[in-house]
Amino acid sequence: MADSDTGGKTGKGPESWRMRTRLVRGGLQRSAFDETSEALFMTSGYRYASAEEAEAAFKGEKQRFVYSRYANPTVGMFEERMRLLEGAGAARATASGMAAVFAALLCQLKSGDRVVSARALFGSCQYIVSELLPRYGIETVFVDGTDLDQWRAALKRPAQAVFFETPSNPTLEIIDMRAVAELAHAAGACVVVDNVFATPILQRPMEFGADVVVYSTTKHIDGQGRALGGVVLSSLEFAEKKLRDFLRHTGPAMSPFNAWLMVKSLETLDLRVQRHCENAREIAEFLGTRKGVARVLYPGLPSHPQRALAQTQMTAGGSVVAFEIEGGKPAAYRALNALAMIDISNNLGDAKSLITHPATTTHQRLPPEERARLGIAEGLVRLSVGLEDPADIAADLDQALKKA
Ligand SMILES: *Cc1c(COP(=O)(O)O)cnc(C)c1O
Repeated sequence: MADSDTGGKTGKGPESWRMRTRLVRGGLQRSAFDETSEALFMTSGYRYASAEEAEAAFKGEKQRFVYSRYANPTVGMFEERMRLLEGAGAARATASGMAAVFAALLCQLKSGDRVVSARALFGSCQYIVSELLPRYGIETVFVDGTDLDQWRAALKRPAQAVFFETPSNPTLEIIDMRAVAELAHAAGACVVVDNVFATPILQRPMEFGADVVVYSTTKHIDGQGRALGGVVLSSLEFAEKKLRDFLRHTGPAMSPFNAWLMVKSLETLDLRVQRHCENAREIAEFLGTRKGVARVLYPGLPSHPQRALAQTQMTAGGSVVAFEIEGGKPAAYRALNALAMIDISNNLGDAKSLITHPATTTHQRLPPEERARLGIAEGLVRLSVGLEDPADIAADLDQALKKA
């Protein structure tokens, strides 16, 4: 087993593979048993042939596995496959998406630093930036991510990090990655992009100037609603100089079992994401024709306010459709409660279609005026379109909307 940092024995081969091949074979390291499927190394520690070898391993003179909080062969296979998929210098897996976001920011920030972030964020990301960072003396500035003038004004002064999601949760705003990265780099900031909604299949932020990309692998990468996970993609230098010791000593390691689920799931990620997008587009079009639906937000529809920008950054619209039901919260609740197949759940990127009411769940922590500013209306619902037959998804929505 070689170190996952280098791609090990795989040499130049995987780098020349096309994306679909990378998804199926990238990072595969076989054990002495020559298994075809990636092996699950459910071990916390590793043994040494001698006391001298242990000493050399701890001194860093001998590259080998020493403890699964640091590295594990199954986790390493997942990391290497992700690294190849993203075209990054390094990938580091974490126990959840939030551990990835937290590590990507905290590993590089210190008291006195300044962070500029888009306002429209996943609830827990919003907590980290607005509540946690200031507690450690890190100044945070929020901007409307779609307004380049606000980014420009905030980045007139030096900053150490810039953070945003595109498309954002739950209103699916698109941020101009190339323009924001240029402003950020001029201000000296490291650009961290949460790419959960787009997935690495639809959008690769590093091609637009991002320095660090984070995923919750809980979403489309597992894609079957089974396990939590996260991953941080960066240059090898960032991974070694900033992330390595932070992860080693704070310990948000991904379990080998979860890494095994994730590495196997990557084999079908492209197929699943393409189907998610086809279904989501069909459902978004259906909702657009439906009485009682005030507006539909989907980056794959010509009606999306930033459709042109979305088309330059993403190859398809993604799996999530947001729509506003006329009649506010009571009508939205009536529709959700009338669904016979689609599940009410705050998760997304699952094979099963899931629906949530952001104002009272994922974004209930925000004061009402902040929700209004973000466009999270009382009648807004977020639908993660699954892999079921779209005719069945549409039929369920149709009968539920009639009861709204
Ligand atoms: C779910 C999600 C996260 C957090 O991931 P967990 O795996 O739940 O910790 C972060 N960002 C976005 C955009 C998400 O959707």
